[in-house]
Amino acid sequence: MKYDLSQYHVETRAFIGGEYVQPKNNHKIEKYSSVTGEKLPEIVACDEKDVDYAVEIALKAYQQGSWSRMEGKERQRIMLRFADLMEKHLEEIATLDAYETGRAFQNYVYDSIPKAIEAIRYFAESIDKIYDKSASPGPGAFCVVKREALGVVGIITPWNDPMVVAAWKFSPALLMGNSVVMKPAEQSSLSLIRVAALAKEAGIPDGVFNVVPGYGEIAGKALALHQDVAGIFFTGSSEVGKLLIQYVGQSNMKRVALECGGKGPYIVTPHYSDLEEAAAVLAQNMFYNQGQICSAPSRVIVHQSIQEQFLEYLRKAAEDYVPQNPYDIRNRVGCVVSREQYDRVMKYIDLARQENADVIIAASDSDLPEGACGIRPTIITKISEDSRLIKEEIFGPVVCVQAYRTKEEAVALANDTIYGLAGAVWTNDLNEAYYFANRVKVGLMHINSYGEDDNTSPFGGFKQSGNGKDKSIYAFDEYSELKSIWVKVHG
Ligand code: NAD
Repeated sequence: MKYDLSQYHVETRAFIGGEYVQPKNNHKIEKYSSVTGEKLPEIVACDEKDVDYAVEIALKAYQQGSWSRMEGKERQRIMLRFADLMEKHLEEIATLDAYETGRAFQNYVYDSIPKAIEAIRYFAESIDKIYDKSASPGPGAFCVVKREALGVVGIITPWNDPMVVAAWKFSPALLMGNSVVMKPAEQSSLSLIRVAALAKEAGIPDGVFNVVPGYGEIAGKALALHQDVAGIFFTGSSEVGKLLIQYVGQSNMKRVALECGGKGPYIVTPHYSDLEEAAAVLAQNMFYNQGQICSAPSRVIVHQSIQEQFLEYLRKAAEDYVPQNPYDIRNRVGCVVSREQYDRVMKYIDLARQENADVIIAASDSDLPEGACGIRPTIITKISEDSRLIKEEIFGPVVCVQAYRTKEEAVALANDTIYGLAGAVWTNDLNEAYYFANRVKVGLMHINSYGEDDNTSPFGGFKQSGNGKDKSIYAFDEYSELKSIWVKVHG
């Protein structure tokens, strides 16, 4: 199988009201491949007027009710059809994402896009298995507590896993009966633009599934400020997440849920029987997408008695994740998303050298073309306590290692961050595992594993990693209001 974009018609326009539309402004998003340096297809950049138009159409569709009042079972059938269509076009969607983001084609084909499809199916299959509730205050009354759609929902997504993050949000939003207006990241809009036509083909009525590509500070901001948008759902940096909260306060107090950055602590105790396995799982989760994963275990907190041994295993495991040509299906790791991202990450590696930390870089051969933005797995040790390296989200294949002596010290190191998305502890001692699981302030704690959580587990952060949950049955609550209907009866 070969990656080849030329075999597909690449759509670059917005999708509003069931058709591709060209904004009047003629603004474009101009960008270049992080692999070859070639110019990428110019995607339209929607402005405030286009967002207004999309929201107006979405609201009309919502009020008209062909989707919002459709029976749940029928919505379910349509969403399952949508998932089937995505599966049929899996290679095309994977190619669009690989071409735009420089991530390995293999990864999109076997992991990312199948995960997005699985998420749609999970939510669709759940929708007729969840119940509303009723309360019984006494013999003379009862109260029905039901979920009600919000109306028009805005969705803003990042580039690091474009289709998975979008599917986590649009699936529960749509299944609850909302209309959606989505603003994908500038760096990765093609796949969402493409699947919009598949949503229509599956039977989602016109106006219910809309995509407005554009710049965050223009199209994204307009969506978050819009008076007719009832909820804004965001995945991206904590910095932009904070802006969204402001927009919500400046406009209509719409519902807001944020999935933001992370600095995942990965605690390795001397009480785990297979350090080599712990190192291999770390390397896989840290390096497979060049570290561009919000929940990546980017801070290792290892007991000092096993630090040397663990580092030896980690160094070895990291060699399997040296970036290669992402378009060769045999290669598992590609490039970072852009030259800007490359420069940003390299600055952190320079900082480590300036601060006299130890910098270990994986050295295996690479078939990447000259000038491609691939970054070799990098392990940094002997870092000073107050270094920015252990405080800030690097969002590259750079793991920082800190040693601990006591459990209390390990917990303090793990929690010494503004983030709280995901973490792990490796130990065969159940008491120790539970000790850490209860004290590390993250939304998802792994014990002797990492990154294997499926659609059944809620995903979302504590602290400045955000609020709200993606995935699982709980996600439906994000996209609905709870309404109480009090019924007086004479029984
Ligand atoms: P980003 O915050 O720069 O952009 C995310 C999205 O927000 C993009 O669509 C962008 O156009 C939009 N945006 C930017 N400025 C905006 C504004 N002023 N108003 C409205 N929208 C605006 O993040 P990114 O660089 O695309 O992605 C990387 C970040 O995303 C990392 O911090 C990473 O940790 C985080 N992330 C979090 C999760 C999670 O589930 N917690 C998942 C993936 C990525």
